[in-house]
Amino acid sequence: MKIFVVNCGSSSLKYQLINMVDESVLAKGLVERIGIDGSTLKHVPTGKESVTLNEVIANHSVGIKMVLDILTDSNHGVIESLEEIAAIGHRVVHGGEKFSDSVLIGLDVLKNIELCSVMAPLHNPANLLGIEACEKLMPSTPQVAVFDTAFHQTMPKQAYLYGLPYELYEKYALRRYGFHGTSHKYVAQRAADIMDEHMTNLRIITCHLGNGASIAAVKYGKCIDTSMGYTPLEGLVMGTRSGEIDPAIIPFLMEKEKLNAKEIDEYLNKKSGILGITGLSSDFRDVEQAAEEGNERAQLAIDIFAYKVKKYIGGYVAAMGGVDAIVFTAGLGENSAFMRDKICNGLEYLGTRIDKERNMVRGKEQEISVKRAPVKIFVIPTNEELVIARDTANVCKELIKF
Ligand code: ADP
Repeated sequence: MKIFVVNCGSSSLKYQLINMVDESVLAKGLVERIGIDGSTLKHVPTGKESVTLNEVIANHSVGIKMVLDILTDSNHGVIESLEEIAAIGHRVVHGGEKFSDSVLIGLDVLKNIELCSVMAPLHNPANLLGIEACEKLMPSTPQVAVFDTAFHQTMPKQAYLYGLPYELYEKYALRRYGFHGTSHKYVAQRAADIMDEHMTNLRIITCHLGNGASIAAVKYGKCIDTSMGYTPLEGLVMGTRSGEIDPAIIPFLMEKEKLNAKEIDEYLNKKSGILGITGLSSDFRDVEQAAEEGNERAQLAIDIFAYKVKKYIGGYVAAMGGVDAIVFTAGLGENSAFMRDKICNGLEYLGTRIDKERNMVRGKEQEISVKRAPVKIFVIPTNEELVIARDTANVCKELIKF
């Protein structure tokens, strides 16, 4: 059984075709600059040469059509016909309170994804475009929505309600949702597998540290808290996002810097965080290098980031009444031995210590705590596409013939 995984952004589209028999990737690729000059499709078929096409890609529908054509192309393709695709799995960013699991897409689901667009105005409409394009081109293939928010729907009210009038929750569904759910779910499950334990016996803290960064507390298989909130702006200091700040700063800045609501939102999302503190870059590779060369603000940004992560880890240990494993994933978490070391330095009171040598790993699954530490530390590369493919196969198992 082959599953086509689609992740649509407003002007980009990532895809993978996965063979579920052995969970191998048959092809993957990226369409960029949809609807903008200079659109490209980069297609990477496994075992064949990669190819880049530079053509006008006016909308998502054209982009998906190009991807389906190249997947079945006699030179660059990996399947003979689209009939081989059993189902399509879509990443959908916001599922609100409606979706606590992946679902088969029908009219009702589409309507609800659209209703959730208020909470994710940049993402959900783009995800819907991808779904509609696939529906048009492959009307008889089942499609499944896999939500970034779903894994966090197990949080108790005490973790997801803000200190705001309760009516606002009832009126606007204003609450913490959390994001990166598929990633947190995948790495928590992998940690349990590596430990040869059931997730239901473990308390795991998952640190998804990329451009966007979030931490989750996964207690006995269920997420009980996470650092991102109503939007992906809350929590840690991120590449360009401020993370949590005193909310009173917002009206202060709006007045002093003459910013309207849209402008302050952009300021906090795009010009803040590591970029804002350093004045240099949002990319930790640049920041680590600048710090090494003696740049004080770069060093400060690194210190602030590591301190925040450590504080969240401490908070989640308290929330779960202990911890059995800490997992690092995503760009920074998978690649920066330096940052992992800095974060874990001082966590010895928990019963764990990072092993400097084992920590010198990059983008590879590995336990990095010292041998026999009661609390394990892992690097686990995330694989959101595989979770989407697995969920899609699972949701469709009654519908598709094996
Ligand atoms: P996202 O998916 O949120 O855009 P990623 O998970 O791809 O982000 O992470 C990208 C970030 O990871 C980069 O901006 C950079 O800060 C960090 N990163 C990647 N590789 C390294 C590395 N070798 N050392 C330090 N940081 C790295």
